[in-house]
Amino acid sequence: MYFAKKGIEEPAPIIENTVVYACEADSCNGWMREEFATVDRSCPLCNSGMKQEVRELPQIKVEYNAYS
Ligand SMILES: [Zn+2]
Repeated sequence: MYFAKKGIEEPAPIIENTVVYACEADSCNGWMREEFATVDRSCPLCNSGMKQEVRELPQIKVEYNAYS
């Protein structure tokens, strides 16, 4: 008798160093990933300038399978 595996296990997210732009305003938590940053790199919340920094973030899944 076989025991079916329960569902599909969620793979653990891969944490990677990610370049982001973070809002320079102390009172604002706005930030965005570099690849999604607007051309003028202004904060989407308060329009302040943003500065580049590196954060450890879960890797985002790509839309396609590069190995297929
Ligand atoms: Zn801001």
